[in-house]
Amino acid sequence: MSAVQIRDVRTILTQPGGVPLIVVKVITSDPGLFGLGCSTFTWRHRAVHACLEHHLKPFLIGKDAANIEDIWQSGMVGGYWRNGPVLNNALSGVDMALWDIKGKMAGMPCYQLWGGLSRQAAAVYVHANGRDKHEVTDNAQKLIARGFRYIRCQLGGYQGVTDARNSRPDGSLPGAYFDPREKLRLIPDLFSHLRQALPDEVELLYDVHERLAPMDAAWLAKALEQYRLFFVEDVLPPEDLEWFATIRSQCATPLAMGELFCHPGEIVPLVSRRLIDFIRVHPSAIGGVTPCLKLAHLGELFGLRTAWHGPLDVSPVGMAANVHMDVCLHNFGIQEWALRGELEQEMFPGTPQIKGGYVYPNDRPGLGIDLDEDLAGKHPCKDRVPGWTVARFPDGTIGRP
Ligand code: MG
Repeated sequence: MSAVQIRDVRTILTQPGGVPLIVVKVITSDPGLFGLGCSTFTWRHRAVHACLEHHLKPFLIGKDAANIEDIWQSGMVGGYWRNGPVLNNALSGVDMALWDIKGKMAGMPCYQLWGGLSRQAAAVYVHANGRDKHEVTDNAQKLIARGFRYIRCQLGGYQGVTDARNSRPDGSLPGAYFDPREKLRLIPDLFSHLRQALPDEVELLYDVHERLAPMDAAWLAKALEQYRLFFVEDVLPPEDLEWFATIRSQCATPLAMGELFCHPGEIVPLVSRRLIDFIRVHPSAIGGVTPCLKLAHLGELFGLRTAWHGPLDVSPVGMAANVHMDVCLHNFGIQEWALRGELEQEMFPGTPQIKGGYVYPNDRPGLGIDLDEDLAGKHPCKDRVPGWTVARFPDGTIGRP
């Protein structure tokens, strides 16, 4: 049997919603056989595009599309220095596309290639936000009425509700501000209220977004323990991993960590020391499906579950890859789900569908998703400098997002 060769690699930049998306299309020597993958690093999309066009594409053309592991390993070391979000996202798009191709060649959905169904659909969590605890509760109740059973609750989004508006020094610079101590003042009361107002069986989650000093993070995780959260997300930044042992010694609040990790090895000490409960990496940022499957299997042996990052800056192609892993992996935990607009779903036929709080993959071969390139071309990416990622403490010091 002659090998199916990679003939072309195309990078499609599009923006059907609020943020740029990057989709990779790997075209093979077999007429009509192609694969799609997600390379979305939304705030550095031009750099990923350049990496794909100028570095990975010449490296890939002529290679056997079947050899995913070899291509991932050699793509990772081809520039000598490896990892980093630009290379990893670029390689992720190629990796997912090659799995899509392999599924199409086998006539099977990707979850069949990875071990078959452990469940028929994946439970998702969605986000309820609000300016005060009553508005958060109202928004959570609307989501519960639509069938969702896992709700992540936030007060005032990432900037909080007070925005440190009244406590800045004279001459403070423009831009986003936040008061990390606000979380300590308001969040335990928010969850006390939610536990009383919502049905007991609804699962609640909270995202710290790494915005606390380490001991404040420990204090908050401990204060929230009594409200039986499904997990607290990113309670510490990647720079403070040693502090997880302190939090672990103080409370039994389940912890999810990893959306800012790039190297798959970053999470290994947290897994092997059982310091967290959920592996929560951004699949394209660590290099795609190939490293994610390895991390998930590693985690299973240590009693950890998966919770792949799933915001709007994962394209529907990336979400399809997440869902195929979710329904297959025995140690799946939960899938984050961002509600998408009609244009995005029209642009990506085969986007996994939500019903009754679960997301379902379709049973088409590969990832089961396509891209309407004509429609994508009508919605080009808008270049803008992000604001919320460069937020400041009340005195003007830059904080970590
Ligand atoms: Mg998060």
